[in-house]
Amino acid sequence: MNRHTGIDDLVRGVPRRAFLRLACAAGLALAAAGPLAAQTPAAQTPTAQTPAAQAPGGALPIFDAHIHYSHDAWDVVPTAAVIALMRQAGLRRALVSSSDDEGTQRLLAAAPDLVIPSLRPYRRRGELQTWMHDPDVARHVEDRLARHRYAAIGEFHLYGADADLPVPRRLVQLARDNRLVLHAHSDADAVERIFRQDPGARVLWAHAGFDRPENVRALLQRHRTLWADLAFRSEHGAGGRVDPAWRELFAAFPDRFMVGTDTFTPERLHYIPEHAAWSRAWLADLPAALAERIAWRNAEALLLPAWEANRARGDTPTADPCAQLPAGSERIDSDGAAIVWHTEPAQVTVGSPFAIVAAVCPLGQAKGAEVRSLAIDATMPEHRHGMNYVPQVRRMPDGRWRAEGLLFHMPGRWAIVFEAQVDGHRELLSRLLMVR
Ligand SMILES: [Zn+2]
Repeated sequence: MNRHTGIDDLVRGVPRRAFLRLACAAGLALAAAGPLAAQTPAAQTPTAQTPAAQAPGGALPIFDAHIHYSHDAWDVVPTAAVIALMRQAGLRRALVSSSDDEGTQRLLAAAPDLVIPSLRPYRRRGELQTWMHDPDVARHVEDRLARHRYAAIGEFHLYGADADLPVPRRLVQLARDNRLVLHAHSDADAVERIFRQDPGARVLWAHAGFDRPENVRALLQRHRTLWADLAFRSEHGAGGRVDPAWRELFAAFPDRFMVGTDTFTPERLHYIPEHAAWSRAWLADLPAALAERIAWRNAEALLLPAWEANRARGDTPTADPCAQLPAGSERIDSDGAAIVWHTEPAQVTVGSPFAIVAAVCPLGQAKGAEVRSLAIDATMPEHRHGMNYVPQVRRMPDGRWRAEGLLFHMPGRWAIVFEAQVDGHRELLSRLLMVR
């Protein structure tokens, strides 16, 4: 698998040359130039005052659409220092995502005017090649979506036929249900598969797929709700000159491109100001209106409405989990409680294990009471037997419940039974299912 080797080559090669060229052309001290910072810790202080690192008064604002702040970055660059780097860079806003999401929440809390959060599905660094096979990733994303607000899901890495695996499918579904943008580090094939799953998806194609301008053009032509970031590539604007093929593409699709640093290692957070300066240099070679669109207007037009719409859904998303009925969920009511539940996968078949996610909301006199426990089981009323296994039910951080290990071992009529202990009494709710 050489996709990642390709990126490493870029780390060592193209951007370094691009940054060095820029630095030389601008007569800057090389101490703060991006790639050197990775090798010389002394150069990492975010207060390094070079002309490029200062907030350029009147300079073109930049929306950096590709920032990560993962768990191993916090000690290297503290939250306040990251915000300081963003402000020095003259960033108008940034799309931020982080492995385990905590870093994104830290930056958002520190600078809500600057940060637009995206939910990265990874909990730790190193999951980017395995996540699509790991059902826990879907659960992690569901848990975070229940607790926080976002504009997007991503950046995730997904190639070819992997896009049709159950976990990526669930992500596409969650993005659709929550009206979130998908930030996909993908090849054209995976992008096509995402659009086949959800023709209404809004996809931000990370790095424009590291693809050639003619292939990027073909994909943009086919999909009106596809955008591309130019993060971590430099051939479109090396040396402050826009490459002719890219210039044609930018003119043909003026509202689809945006820029980004891609801080995929902690040290790269120090490059944010250099990247902004480098972007301004090549954008200056375009007509002003087009440069402004690519610099910030396109990103803002795509991401800000998504962020504001999600944020408007309230700061306490779990206050009444039964008030919302996400697609694929069902609500059951008794006198004393409501349950909103869905199965994972959505389609349950004989012989395949599945999970149930349920929110329990006491009603009537019990409204607001604590749900002490929930048992979930399934029986065949006509056969007077249950399942062969006892499902495990646990409470999730967002207050909902998750039952694992359910399996219908034969076709026919099954009853799903929910038994909730609400304060001092028991609520029994059930639903019949035909299973084939
Ligand atoms: Zn990235």
